[in-house]
Amino acid sequence: MKVRIKENAFVARLAAGKLKSSGAAIVFGSTIYLHNTTRQEFLNNTTWVCHELKHVHQYRHYGFVGFLFRYFFQWIQKGYYNNRFEVEARKSESDVSLLNGVEFI
Ligand SMILES: [Zn+2]
Repeated sequence: MKVRIKENAFVARLAAGKLKSSGAAIVFGSTIYLHNTTRQEFLNNTTWVCHELKHVHQYRHYGFVGFLFRYFFQWIQKGYYNNRFEVEARKSESDVSLLNGVEFI
């Protein structure tokens, strides 16, 4: 599976502003958009990589629109931290099997 990484991403900056964190990542489909962190810093942080890869899997499971739709309604109902896609991604942060077969491009 190819996963694209884009640094200095505007969409990630928007997410960072909302989450008030220094480094931020946001996933759309099979692309991880980074803000305020480098590709290398991100890749060195295995728990973070696994978290974002879980979101890539969620997109693949529900489809691009299907996932965004579900995520949006979870966000409205439960906010960021408690929405089930974030809960699931946090639980997967130590699941290094997510890295199997992943090629970062
Ligand atoms: Zn997340």
